[in-house]
Amino acid sequence: MAVSKLSMRRVIISNLFEYLKLNYDFERPAEPSPSVQISDRDIDIALSYKSDHRLGELREALSRVEKGTYGYCIGCKRPLTRADLEEDPAKRVCASCEESFKMVRHTARAPQSADTSR
Ligand SMILES: [Zn+2]
Repeated sequence: MAVSKLSMRRVIISNLFEYLKLNYDFERPAEPSPSVQISDRDIDIALSYKSDHRLGELREALSRVEKGTYGYCIGCKRPLTRADLEEDPAKRVCASCEESFKMVRHTARAPQSADTSR
């Protein structure tokens, strides 16, 4: 995926501010020009706004961009598809891992039979 760190960051940040605007009436800070990125301070202000699950996800996505792990599945480590990230820029798992995570959670929540192996 030939997408620069900066452009990944911009996508996530614009989602973040979009979300804030929709849910909290928070206007994104003005960007003097497209080449100027919103400062970390602006992001901190936006994120301190509310403790919110979705904001947490987007914040995490930003830190993954910094670490260079953004865009990779946390399960199988394979790159996520562009379509996945367009649908949700904060996405962390690919479709097949998501399925198995669901199954794991389901099994953990509702054991079908008594575990006698232990
Ligand atoms: Zn995966």
